[in-house]
Amino acid sequence: MMRSTSVLGQMIARVADDDDYRRWAGQVERAGYCVRPIRLSGTATTIHQGTGEVAARYDSSDEPGGVLLVACKDRRESVCPPCAARYRADAWHVFAAGVRAGRDDAAHESADESADGLDHGDEPGGNPIVLATFTAPSFGKVHAFRDGGICRAVRGGQGGERGKRGKGMCEHGRPLGCPARHDGADALVGAPLCVDCADLAGQVLWNAHVGELWRRTVIYVYRALAALAPALGGQPVGVRQIRELLRVSYVKVAEFQRRGVVHLHVLARLDGVNPDDPDAVLPAPAWAGVELLTAALRQAAGRVNVALPVVDARTAAVARWGRQLDVRLVAARDVDAARVAGYLAKYATKTVSDSVSGLPASRPAAGDGGDDGSGGRLAGHVAALTATVRKLARLATCRTLRLARHVHTLGFRGHVTSKSRRYSTTFTALRERRRAWRRAQAGQDRGHDPWAHDGGGAMVVVGDWKIAGIGYHTFGDRVLADVLGREHRQARQAMRLGLTE
Ligand SMILES: [Zn+2]
Ligand SMILES: [Zn+2]
Ligand SMILES: [Zn+2]
Repeated sequence: MMRSTSVLGQMIARVADDDDYRRWAGQVERAGYCVRPIRLSGTATTIHQGTGEVAARYDSSDEPGGVLLVACKDRRESVCPPCAARYRADAWHVFAAGVRAGRDDAAHESADESADGLDHGDEPGGNPIVLATFTAPSFGKVHAFRDGGICRAVRGGQGGERGKRGKGMCEHGRPLGCPARHDGADALVGAPLCVDCADLAGQVLWNAHVGELWRRTVIYVYRALAALAPALGGQPVGVRQIRELLRVSYVKVAEFQRRGVVHLHVLARLDGVNPDDPDAVLPAPAWAGVELLTAALRQAAGRVNVALPVVDARTAAVARWGRQLDVRLVAARDVDAARVAGYLAKYATKTVSDSVSGLPASRPAAGDGGDDGSGGRLAGHVAALTATVRKLARLATCRTLRLARHVHTLGFRGHVTSKSRRYSTTFTALRERRRAWRRAQAGQDRGHDPWAHDGGGAMVVVGDWKIAGIGYHTFGDRVLADVLGREHRQARQAMRLGLTE
C-alpha cells in the first residue's frame, strides 16, 4: 500500500482494494478493535505430531501490509478501551463464577460478554461469601470531599488545636484545618494539609507491603476461624486441622484512593474441604456461616501486621490495616453476583492515575531514571510522593523492595487483580474458550487465522514471529479501526435492546 501523508489519503488507500480491505478489517475484528494492536510478521506452521506432515501454513506476508494484527490486551481503560472492555468482561465472569460456586457453574460460564445477570436461575448456595474492603491507616490529615460540607473544621478559640507556630497552625506554619467545600473533581482532594506533617515514607512503605500484609491476613483468618468456630457450634479444632475442614477462597482487587494509598476489595468465600478431592468446591459445614467468616476477617484484620524496614525515627515500624473494615454479605443470587462482579470488574481496569490526580498513566518508557514521565510537571502531593519513593529506593534498608521500578504506582508492587487458586475459573480458561468458539465460527475462513488448527489433539502449531511494530501502520488505519469498532458496538447494543424489550 502506498503511504500517503494525509489521513484521508491513508484511508482511501486502505479501502481502495476490496479484498485487501476485507482481510484487513477481518484482522481488526479478530484483534477486538484494539486501538494499538501489535503488528506481527512471520509464519505459523501446523504440523501433525505423529507423521510430521505439514497440515497448514500461515504466512503473514499474504496479509495486507505483510503483518498480522493482534490485540495489545492491556487491561487499563485509559490505555486501550476495547481491550479493557474485554478484560472487564472476563474479570466479571471470573468474579461472578466464584460467587455462584458450589452450584451448577457449567451452565453459567459462557465466554460471551453479556453482563446483565438476568437470565439465570435462583438457588440458594451453601458457601457464605462477603465483600470486604481493607483500607490503609491514616498517614496524616488530607483534604476531603464531603458532599458540600466543610473539608476540615478549624477549631479556633479556647482549647483549639495548637501547633508550635500558633493556634490553628502546624509546626511548619500551615493551617491544621481547611474551611473549603471541595467538589469531587478538585485535584486537592486527597492531598495532605501539610506534606511535611504527613508520613509519606510510611504511606509508600505501606503500599509496598500490602501484598505481604494480605498474605499474612489469610493465615490469621484461618487462626481466627479455629478460635471462633466452637462458639458458633463448630467442633473444637486446632489451627492445623481447620484447613482440613474449611477453605477461604478469595479474589482481590487493589484500588488507589485519592490520597495515593492502596486499599483492597476482597470477595472472600468459605468452602468445605474434601481431602480426597482438593479441587472440589464443597458447601461449608452448617456451623461455618457468614457470621463466622465475618468475625474471622475482623479478628484477623485487627491483629495482623508486617514489620517495615527502618527508614527514619518517625515512620511506623509495622504495617497494619486501617480501623475501617467494611464487610458485606453477598447473597449467592445471580443479581447479587452480577452486581458485585460488575463493581469489582470496574476497579480491575482502573489505573493509579485514574484515582490520583497528576500521575502519568504508566511507567515512563525511559525506565527507572530521574524522569517521572510527565516532563517534571508533577505537582503537589503526587510530586512529594514520587520523590519519597525515589528517596526510599536509594536506602540500603529498602533495597530488596526494588522501589525504583514502582515509582509510578507510588510503591505498590503487586497485581491489581489476583485470586486464590480455587476461587473460580481463570482468565486463561476464558481466553481458551473464546478462541475455541472463534475457531468454530471461522469455519471455512481458516486460512486467515494462524491459530486456526491449534488445540486439536495430534496437531501442533509452530510459530516464528517478529514484532514489526506497535499500533496501526497509519493514522488513517487507526481512524478506520475506530469506526469499525463503533459500528460493532452499536450493532451489539441494538441486538441487546431487541432481546430485552
Ligand atoms: Zn488493545
Ligand atoms: Zn481542604
Ligand atoms: Zn506541617
